[in-house]
Amino acid sequence: MEKPFFKNLIKIEPYTAGEQPKGGDIIKLNANENPYPPSPAVQEAISGFDAEQLRLYPPMDAAPLRQAVADFYGVDRSCVFAGNGSDDVLAAAFRAFFNSDKPLLYPDITYSFYPVWCDLLRIPYETIPVDEGFNVRVEDYCRENGGIVLPNPNAPTTIGLGLDRIEYLISSNRESVVIIDEAYADFSGVSCVPLIKKYDNLVVTQTFSKSRSLAGMRVAAAIADPYLISCLDAVKDSYNSYPMDAVAIRAGAAAIADREYFEQTCRRVIATRERTAKRLRELGFILPDSSANFLFATHPGHSAEKIFTYLRERGIYIRYFRKPRIDNYLRITIGTDEQMDRLIEELERLLGR
Ligand SMILES: *Cc1c(COP(=O)(O)O)cnc(C)c1O
Repeated sequence: MEKPFFKNLIKIEPYTAGEQPKGGDIIKLNANENPYPPSPAVQEAISGFDAEQLRLYPPMDAAPLRQAVADFYGVDRSCVFAGNGSDDVLAAAFRAFFNSDKPLLYPDITYSFYPVWCDLLRIPYETIPVDEGFNVRVEDYCRENGGIVLPNPNAPTTIGLGLDRIEYLISSNRESVVIIDEAYADFSGVSCVPLIKKYDNLVVTQTFSKSRSLAGMRVAAAIADPYLISCLDAVKDSYNSYPMDAVAIRAGAAAIADREYFEQTCRRVIATRERTAKRLRELGFILPDSSANFLFATHPGHSAEKIFTYLRERGIYIRYFRKPRIDNYLRITIGTDEQMDRLIEELERLLGR
């Protein structure tokens, strides 16, 4: 018989992340991680960390990290919030900003964590279909809503919008908060951070997991008008005053201070991306131009699921989503040139070239 308290337990379908396979000779292209290590300054910060300091609570509000983010973007520190990965920052933002009875809007094809937070926090939402080419049409978001969240570039489609489109979206929705999730913006060169000075309803989230090679450290930030930042702080201080540990604060600050290493790493990833996209097209794949550190590809002659399984059996992990509209597409993270060569070799074998 069902236990009486069962009816009061949470019923939610959680987010499923890419597999984290263990083992030596695998090529992991399934979680959009960076193939290069973080800045050497991060290693120094960690090695130089004095464990004695762990006796104390970490700096209030992750202040050294917030300051480093503010310096990088040329904004005031009161415009910066920091958190334990952007999943933590976004969850706080959903709680802080989306308390309307009107629906939150986001694309039908996008980051699959958004519906999970909506279910968890009981936020009403509506998805807006992207067009046949997977493009987000910002005009479709000019309607009554309780908020908007949009990744730019979008995931998993890799398609980025220009700043003029993003500004149109924000300026047409002054009654609600618009979150632009810039997890991949460092690979497109288009960031709307400068617009926070003009629009007090804009929140930009950034993560250190992709372009700064710190997925394992859990570091991210939000940049917005100080009033919105104070709302994020209120949420944070209502569930966990110290979500960021002392080591992550130090390492994150060191990572963002090293602009040169960061720019160099992004350039390498972008060069490999362009080279890989060209080779995939030569093999008959169809893919949009990517503004991110991954590709989104389909092959007219071979099912995505079959290609995914074939590669997996050969130790190459990519991502396949069994979801409407995109179940014949593959999401392939950009690795090193050598890793992408291995991928292309295996695909050539499969496709019989
Ligand atoms: C990876 C990703 C995030 C979250 O990254 P964190 O590791 O939690 O910082 C957020 N949004 C999108 C679109 C992502 O792809």
